[in-house]
Amino acid sequence: MAHPKHKTSKARRDKRRSHHKAAIATLATCSNCGATVKYHTVCGECGYYRGKLAIEKNVTV
Ligand SMILES: [Zn+2]
Repeated sequence: MAHPKHKTSKARRDKRRSHHKAAIATLATCSNCGATVKYHTVCGECGYYRGKLAIEKNVTV
């Protein structure tokens, strides 16, 4: 099996990993209530997704 000939130094390893980071999520505005929501996610304020009601929110509280 293929095998590395030399050990990767801590500096080389850490330099490679310097690009490893979580991407900033793309944010959108809810078309129903105007709240800021993550893309491809049901609105947490009103439960709408792409202009349609996806989750009924408990309004009686
Ligand atoms: Zn909304």
